[in-house]
Amino acid sequence: MFDICIIGSGPAAVISAKSFVDNGYKVCMLDCGEYSQPSDVSEKHFLDQRAAEAHFFYPPEDKTFEANSGGAQLTRARSHLTKNVDKYFTVSSNNFSPFQTLATGGLSAAWGAACFTYSEDDLKKASLENLQLHYEEVAKIIGISGPSASRFCNISNKQRPAVLDHNGTSILRTPVKGITLEQSSLAMLTENLDTRRPNPYFDMDFYSNFGDSVFRSIQIVQQLKQKPNFTHIQNALAISFSESDSEVQVKYINTQTEVAYEVNASKLVICGGAINSYRLVANSLKCFGKTNPILCNPYLYIPTIHLPNLGKKGAFHRHSLSQVLGEIDQSNSPTIQFYSYRSLLISRLMAQTPMPPFFARLFWRSLVESLVIVGAHFADNGVAPRSIQAYPNNYTAHLEIDFPFPKITGIAKIISTLLKLKCVPIGMIKTKMGGSIHYAGTMPISNPGQHPLGMHANGLIHGTKNVYCFDSSGWTYLPSRGLTFTIMANAHRLASKLQENMC
Ligand SMILES: Cc1cc2nc3c(=O)[nH]c(=O)nc-3n(C[C@H](O)[C@H](O)[C@H](O)COP(=O)(O)OP(=O)(O)OC[C@H]3O[C@@H](n4cnc5c(N)ncnc54)[C@H](O)[C@@H]3O)c2cc1C
Repeated sequence: MFDICIIGSGPAAVISAKSFVDNGYKVCMLDCGEYSQPSDVSEKHFLDQRAAEAHFFYPPEDKTFEANSGGAQLTRARSHLTKNVDKYFTVSSNNFSPFQTLATGGLSAAWGAACFTYSEDDLKKASLENLQLHYEEVAKIIGISGPSASRFCNISNKQRPAVLDHNGTSILRTPVKGITLEQSSLAMLTENLDTRRPNPYFDMDFYSNFGDSVFRSIQIVQQLKQKPNFTHIQNALAISFSESDSEVQVKYINTQTEVAYEVNASKLVICGGAINSYRLVANSLKCFGKTNPILCNPYLYIPTIHLPNLGKKGAFHRHSLSQVLGEIDQSNSPTIQFYSYRSLLISRLMAQTPMPPFFARLFWRSLVESLVIVGAHFADNGVAPRSIQAYPNNYTAHLEIDFPFPKITGIAKIISTLLKLKCVPIGMIKTKMGGSIHYAGTMPISNPGQHPLGMHANGLIHGTKNVYCFDSSGWTYLPSRGLTFTIMANAHRLASKLQENMC
């Protein structure tokens, strides 16, 4: 029997697992993921990749991942992320398009690594607390680079900021009143960290992860696998749990054979991501046809041309992630991020250009240097209508989600601010709800009975004795800033708290 069974291998799962394993607990991780195929992308600059290798630059053939869902950043090199999702993580919805994965490392296998700390006010609204120490501890584990004095990622354990590209440099140099801008803090190395190396600035971050410079949860899974008190059960999809007084039994199937197995532990810690943790708990407690809430940031992106760089040659060496981020100085303002996206844009445009890939790449290369994509995430206070419900299905529950795009304000202010920054909008894409890939609040921290499914502030699921959830499922508010660094800090806090009670 294990001390702790952890479901999932995403950011919440690996930070929790590491904390338990480092303190000597016997831990097992049920991970439905398969590793990504070993990358055959050569470790060289984006512009030096040969025409024969160009298939990597195309989007995957999976039509469910269109630009107005969250799949705009999905490349063929990452197509393993969507394997088996349609089979095991079924969702019906007319207005919500979630990005889910069974991949090892969860959504961090594709995340953009932008790291934010939440303000005290936002933490309070989300029902979170006392995270500063845990932000610092997680930063030491994952490695964060960025400005040392920061309004957006306020921690002291930081590596030096990355080199900014021509667009990032120019935008930060443009003085504009009414917006706070700074270089993005990223879980991307600029200095060595253990065996990981600094980013080589080859602009290949959507296709590979040279030197493991960008933090992805799979790195911690691989480290933990070296430890004798850690057991990694791969291709394992948890379908339900049941409890006795001091033990939790978890049923899972092997996704390759569909044979069912069981594992026993003193405590179960579910980290399936807000949507799939809800699915597992609803299936286990047979909470079917009942309405729970869900949180998700409304998201839109605005392609712009940054006039000062039109017709100019851009920086050769650069990373592909967010360069600059900002918030307009007014309450409830969205958080905006600026990307140059040269390599990713070219892949999208190439796919629609009637030319051989090599020539299509040359053609678009001459135009893309001044293109800046601005992504805007809006806070979700949970007030507008939405619902999530579970229904019995083959193995895991089937979900129905209704989440109309809520009314958002402040778009005119964003546009006028962008114009002052000399970023001229050439369109605006309002993604379907779900497109932000920021999910929370499906089993809110609440009093027992307040929602069909909910949890205590320590992550214990109501109605259970030893079943906890350490991802964002319990949050009662979703700030506009990226959530994942806070998911990890909070998982670290909850894992420490549970260990105090287990002593
Ligand atoms: C393209 C992209 C860009 C992003 N950029 C950013 C960014 O810049 N900044 C930011 O803050 N966030 C970003 N995100 C969001 C971020 O990736 C997620 O917030 C984060 O990964 C959530 O972590 P999690 O541990 O809660 O869940 P997940 O990452 O979803 O991991 C859940 C894990 O549980 C597994 N699982 C689920 N159910 C079961 C089951 N029944 N049995 C076994 N395993 C199960 C899943 O397979 C997965 O491994 C981005 C995401 C994407 C896809």
